[in-house]
Amino acid sequence: MTKHTITRQSGTILGETYGCDCGAHLAGRMAAEVHAAEHHQCSVCLGSAEEEPAPGLTRPCASCAGTGRRREQITWQLAHAEAERLITLAVVRGVVDAFAGPFRLSEVADAVRDGFGLPPGRLPVGPRVRDLLLELQSAGEITMVSAPDELIDGTDVVLFRDPQWQRARTLGL
Ligand SMILES: [Zn+2]
Ligand SMILES: [Zn+2]
Repeated sequence: MTKHTITRQSGTILGETYGCDCGAHLAGRMAAEVHAAEHHQCSVCLGSAEEEPAPGLTRPCASCAGTGRRREQITWQLAHAEAERLITLAVVRGVVDAFAGPFRLSEVADAVRDGFGLPPGRLPVGPRVRDLLLELQSAGEITMVSAPDELIDGTDVVLFRDPQWQRARTLGL
């Protein structure tokens, strides 16, 4: 079976071009995504199974769970949709209310997973819980108290692997 891993080639005067292991030259991101989908590759990482959040930093592609394959990407998309339906802001707020002091993302995710009786890896609980905690943070209900785990040199990228928050002090109590 021919491999169809697509890599971005240096930009030309015509814009970004992509090359596939099968020898295909693809003009532009759209053509690359179509070629990836036709050959059952993840349309986000284009089959490389990795993503590059900052230059020189790679990690497993979050869209296809680091497999590079379209089937896993679709399964994972459905799981993301299910996680969104199941894990609501009210659920996360309820968990957060139980913490008197600072709490970590992983602790809230574990509590949510336990609450629904979800086995690890079944749904993307962590990313969903993180999004909702960031929503609570922007609403002023909680404050991030952790320092970044990693600052990437020369970029604006800051990584918090397991961020920590605490509930904002309620006035009048
Ligand atoms: Zn190809
Ligand atoms: Zn991928």
